[in-house]
Amino acid sequence: MATKRIGLYPGTFDPPTLGHLDIVKRALKLVDQLVIGVGTGTGKNPLFSFEERADMWRHEATLLTKDDGTIDVQPFGDSLQVDFARQVGANIVVRGLRAMSDFEYEFQIVGMNQRLAPDIETVFLMADPKYLSIASKLVKEVAMLGGNVSPFLTPYVAEKLVHRCNEKRKKA
Ligand code: ADP
Repeated sequence: MATKRIGLYPGTFDPPTLGHLDIVKRALKLVDQLVIGVGTGTGKNPLFSFEERADMWRHEATLLTKDDGTIDVQPFGDSLQVDFARQVGANIVVRGLRAMSDFEYEFQIVGMNQRLAPDIETVFLMADPKYLSIASKLVKEVAMLGGNVSPFLTPYVAEKLVHRCNEKRKKA
């Protein structure tokens, strides 16, 4: 029997966008199971807690795969990406590529990871061009300024973001 292909898609996902979701859908064509490694966020000061971001992914996973276990959402803390990949049994790390700026950063990390873990391959996927300009950071800025975020997020995530921004504005 062929071994099960497990992929790891690590990220901060603060919050998950339609770009991230598009990458997940594409990755599911390549692997039998996809672990979404949600960064616990130490040092990044995320707008959403780890639990909130994991909840958003679980919600999307239920819609996408009817909770059949194909998508597994796990916390990804202070460990090396390749160590975490091994821990979850993944031999493929999935990353999304948008622009040259992503490329330069990812290029270096892959070079290091190849030396650290020759058994793990990093696979780069490109989202549909209509999602390529989406970045969590910019979507948060749009939301903070009261703009419409529905072109960038699922309705579930958009609702949470608008709510969080309203809370923040009230406090300010
Ligand atoms: P990071 O781990 O760099 O904080 P993010 O949570 O922003 O990452 O994103 C996780 C992964 O998804 C990265 O590989 C990033 O390049 C990719 N990604 C983010 N937004 C998009 C998008 N709009 N289209 C394709 N890939 C994306």
